[in-house]
Amino acid sequence: MGSPVPPECEQPPGYRGRFAPSPTGPLHFGSLVAAVASFADARAAGGAWLVRVEDLDQPREVPGAARQILDTLAAFGLHWDGEVVYQSSRSEAYEAALTRLAEADLTYPCGCSRAQVAIAGHSGAEGPIYPGTCRGGVREGQAARSLRLRTEGPRIDFTDRVQGMQHQDVAQSVGDFVVRRADGIHAYHLAVVLDDAWQGITQVVRGADLLASTPRQILLQRALALPTPTYAHVPLALAPNGRKLSKSLASAPVDPADPLPALHRAWGFLHQVPLGRVESPTAFWSRAIPRWRIQRIPPRLSSAWTAVGGPDRPLDIHRPLAQA
Ligand SMILES: [Zn+2]
Repeated sequence: MGSPVPPECEQPPGYRGRFAPSPTGPLHFGSLVAAVASFADARAAGGAWLVRVEDLDQPREVPGAARQILDTLAAFGLHWDGEVVYQSSRSEAYEAALTRLAEADLTYPCGCSRAQVAIAGHSGAEGPIYPGTCRGGVREGQAARSLRLRTEGPRIDFTDRVQGMQHQDVAQSVGDFVVRRADGIHAYHLAVVLDDAWQGITQVVRGADLLASTPRQILLQRALALPTPTYAHVPLALAPNGRKLSKSLASAPVDPADPLPALHRAWGFLHQVPLGRVESPTAFWSRAIPRWRIQRIPPRLSSAWTAVGGPDRPLDIHRPLAQA
């Protein structure tokens, strides 16, 4: 906010990465892994690293969480370039993009409730596949609720730097998807695509929970004539019971007063070479950045974070890691 507005579609030269947390709670180990990977990858390439607060879903926002996340990033030596962008300040850009899509006849209003889609659609990897019920118009007696993108065109192919070749026929696997929700909130995929282009992001390094939605984002980039960044999806940190370490589970927020143990663990989780004893986050990063190798990350969607310490030594992320 307040920073000069880069014209949309203009790709600045060089590497520009980003970290995009949602302010739904304090920074969690799982988010720290994504932050560490995107920061290390950007800095190792001599690139810029930006932060965007994804506070689109205001009903889910926890007051004070955005500030807390930013303070935690700073305490971990994850210093960003430029000013932090807040999605809540970007509604006009999202609405303008929806107008462009409507003018190209790429969107249509949908009157179906979630329950109706669940009944009518075959189940796909990403939930029920929307069967196109309202493509020809909202049924009589139904009000338009959400706005959907028509998914047509070829299969989406891209190469992920960690996960390898990816293919998805969005129309077949997902169906026409929502770009503005029934509650009026712009859909995450629309916002992220517009923000990445607006911030001139060339490289997206993020958690593998978003791998399956990347083809939808590429489809939107093509529909809006926006550049497609290069993607790298790093494994998600799972709790020992195999459950996702969600940010809304405040059970294990990382401790900004004691950043080094969690930094070493995130680094180990990403299969990077151990760095040995360092005295500060600054020293950690000056040793880490030249040693960063994204190729060392296993092409997996998730790993239990306890595996970092080896099978016989379950780790408590609040306990200092034995120094190499
Ligand atoms: Zn519908």
